[in-house]
Amino acid sequence: MVETSESLSIIDGIDAVLDEHLLWFGQWQRLVFYGVAAEDGEPSLPPTATFLRWCQAASREELAKQPAIERLVRLHEQMHRLARVILLRATADRARPSAADYESVAGRYEEFMIQLRRIGRAFSAAAAGLDPLTGLRSRRDMQAELEREYNRFTRTGQPFCLAICDIDFFKSVNDRFGHDIGDRVLAAVATCINRGIRSFDEAFRMGGEEFLICLKDAAMADGFAVIERLRCDLALMPIDLSDGTTLTVTASFGLIQAQTGVAIDDMVVNADRALYQAKNSGRNRVVRYGTDGRGPAPPRARAR
Ligand code: GH3
Ligand code: MG
Ligand code: MG
Repeated sequence: MVETSESLSIIDGIDAVLDEHLLWFGQWQRLVFYGVAAEDGEPSLPPTATFLRWCQAASREELAKQPAIERLVRLHEQMHRLARVILLRATADRARPSAADYESVAGRYEEFMIQLRRIGRAFSAAAAGLDPLTGLRSRRDMQAELEREYNRFTRTGQPFCLAICDIDFFKSVNDRFGHDIGDRVLAAVATCINRGIRSFDEAFRMGGEEFLICLKDAAMADGFAVIERLRCDLALMPIDLSDGTTLTVTASFGLIQAQTGVAIDDMVVNADRALYQAKNSGRNRVVRYGTDGRGPAPPRARAR
């Protein structure tokens, strides 16, 4: 789990790496374009060791296991290797680099800076308890929030509902269109959920393609109205693919109202049972626990 204080130092580290490379690239351009006489010795570039130290710190984090960081390390190594070769050649020949040589470094530099900023945003989101892909609150804070809501319910008797949402046939979206489009679909579904719930409700990414929605101050009838409208909005929402075409997806929902004497963890298990029924009875539907269908179904095995 990413600890907030550690994430903060990793975010600070990213700023330092960005600053360092900004200076490094400026100096590299000055040297290759305005030259260093061979007799002045080896041309010197500002040090850029912070990135490697940052990688060591980041490699302890969950997020760093993403392929994005491996790509960044490769890009960094190539960029510096090419920059050194081109600078030595420019110094020896007393000639400016060709456009192709210049681009081979400049293109990698731009890519490096863009990718590193993107990773920085992901770490910032994680430090704020948000899931980087969807921007929804992550599972980390879910349990505490649910317990707070449940305590409020036992104290005041004010009802609330939970809904678990699971995208239908999501694996086939990945299989047909690839993981990047799958990620885009996840982000679009999260946006739809955020728009569809009321401002004081809470949505979490539970894991994979599953979301949990906490509908505050709502008994089953109100909760059902919100979730049913969300289900319809989602089924109609066109999701842009990179080639200009669009895709739609549906989702199934298990909905439950808080009951005195049923602990919050059991409430989640029962919402999951209702979701299981929604899947079994054709998907793209909302099943209300204790109202729709008969008898409890076994809890589903869920990928985390
Ligand atoms: P069902 O209608 O029964 O829910 O079918 P399904 O295909 O949605 O269910 P299944 O659990 O078999 O597949 C879930 C898939 O979600 C498998 C996994 O690869 C994918 N997935 C989980 N997390 C991510 C993610 O962050 N990005 C992408 N692109 N795919 C993910
Ligand atoms: Mg699932
Ligand atoms: Mg699914």
